[in-house]
Amino acid sequence: MREQTYILGPCAAESREQVMETAAQISDLKLEIGDWKLIFRAGVWKPRTSPSTFQGAGEQALEWLAEVKATYGIPVATEVATPEHVEAALKAGIDYLWIGARTSANPLAVQGIADRLRVTGYGLRGLFIKNPVNKDAQLWLGNIARLEKAVDGEGVKVYAVHRGCGHEPCWSMAHQVRLARPDIPMLLDPSHMSGDAAKVPELMTKVAELGLDGAMIEVHIHPETALSDAKQQITPDELGNLEILGALGNLDNIELNWLRAEIDEIDAHLWDTIAARMDVSKRIGEWKKAHGVAPLQPERYQAIVERLRGTDYGLPDEFMLRMWDLIHEESLKQQQ
Ligand code: PEP
Ligand code: MN
Repeated sequence: MREQTYILGPCAAESREQVMETAAQISDLKLEIGDWKLIFRAGVWKPRTSPSTFQGAGEQALEWLAEVKATYGIPVATEVATPEHVEAALKAGIDYLWIGARTSANPLAVQGIADRLRVTGYGLRGLFIKNPVNKDAQLWLGNIARLEKAVDGEGVKVYAVHRGCGHEPCWSMAHQVRLARPDIPMLLDPSHMSGDAAKVPELMTKVAELGLDGAMIEVHIHPETALSDAKQQITPDELGNLEILGALGNLDNIELNWLRAEIDEIDAHLWDTIAARMDVSKRIGEWKKAHGVAPLQPERYQAIVERLRGTDYGLPDEFMLRMWDLIHEESLKQQQ
């Protein structure tokens, strides 16, 4: 089994006390066993959607992270989004840096960060690049290459972190990157992927199923009062109860599991799409009723059949027509 890396800690560093107490409780769990690497995380500069929410504690919080490292001997990580962040974090002795999903969507921003990494003399140990929010496997691969080039020969390891797009897993994107770069460790971020603390345990089973190399999990001492991502953070106790921590083994059928993850996500989209279609269909039904129009309009039905026949979806006509009949039949029912 390859080395497993776990990055644990709050979404954001909120105060010195919150950071130190979270680190104390995580450290008390004594999670580090065997060939594991444990890293403490906390965001210092937070890329928030609205400017009127908590934006992170800023540079002062780098000292809190340095204190975690000095007190508990756990290496520390934070997010960087600008060259200035890189400089401040490295000067403060931060061991690992990660680039977030929003920054990862912008190649100029990633290159700016990469350029500032060409500084020796600091103890930078590794870089984590999250997938871009916009579901672009090639851009993610390009970002990996930018970072590798920047730290070439410096002994700094580059990792991919799969956090999904919005709150969708986007397994297909991650699978493409995994196939293109099997040599790069890939971690799962179940916290941002789901946006829901209750879904973290189930998502964590994917680490073993897909042969991933660990996870980044948001852990907060009081998630309900967290200043950012309150719904998705788990407590140190819940972290200790995650069965997957320590239960990892080499599973067979990893490639099949990736393909199944992809197909399960496609199926979920398929049903969402059909449900959305029925919803519009009902509204059409209401319109027809209000205007005295019968639910079944044969020429409209025929036009859709012709359009299906004339469009190349790479599927047999017979299958598409059978499928269409089923959908149409249910639509008519919804319109009654
Ligand atoms: C984070 O890790 O706190 C974060 C902001 O993540 P992402 O870039 O994946 O949204
Ligand atoms: Mn977060």
